[in-house]
Amino acid sequence: MVAVRGYRAVMPASFPPAAARPDGVVDPMSLAFAEARAAASRGEVPVGAVVVGPDGAILSCAGNRSEEWHDPSAHAEMLALREATRIRGGQRLSDCALYVTLEPCPMCAGAAVHFRIGRILFGAYDPKGGGVDHGPRLFARPGCLHRPEVIGGLREREAQDMLRAFFRNRRMS
Ligand SMILES: [Zn+2]
Repeated sequence: MVAVRGYRAVMPASFPPAAARPDGVVDPMSLAFAEARAAASRGEVPVGAVVVGPDGAILSCAGNRSEEWHDPSAHAEMLALREATRIRGGQRLSDCALYVTLEPCPMCAGAAVHFRIGRILFGAYDPKGGGVDHGPRLFARPGCLHRPEVIGGLREREAQDMLRAFFRNRRMS
């Protein structure tokens, strides 16, 4: 069998223990953080994303793969949204939630519209690169085809600290 590099979400090496509570329940945001940390260890900007189905089941999870795949569009959100849709046989994601450690960029916010994601919960705000609460504010634009419910600032401090530490280390190396 030939291995084909596709836009498959890759289960983190830590799945599920790092993100699981003692009762075995996996908290989606903790899993997104685990994906972000795994991305950082691969030299990627630490962003992780998870898509949760209507019953609370985790459909997909991914971290950034832009460096590894030489693909600037391989953002965690894009990979997780694609995988979730694939798993659901192409069904739109209007009854699903996207958890992501950083405010989505304009590309990912635009993709979220196309995937019809129902809800976006993100960690750190991104005044420079964000496209939801900053920059183009995509969902607030007139004519936006679909407006997901958005909750920002979930575990914001932790998400900010993770990004700052990554960029500090990168500057020093
Ligand atoms: Zn993005």
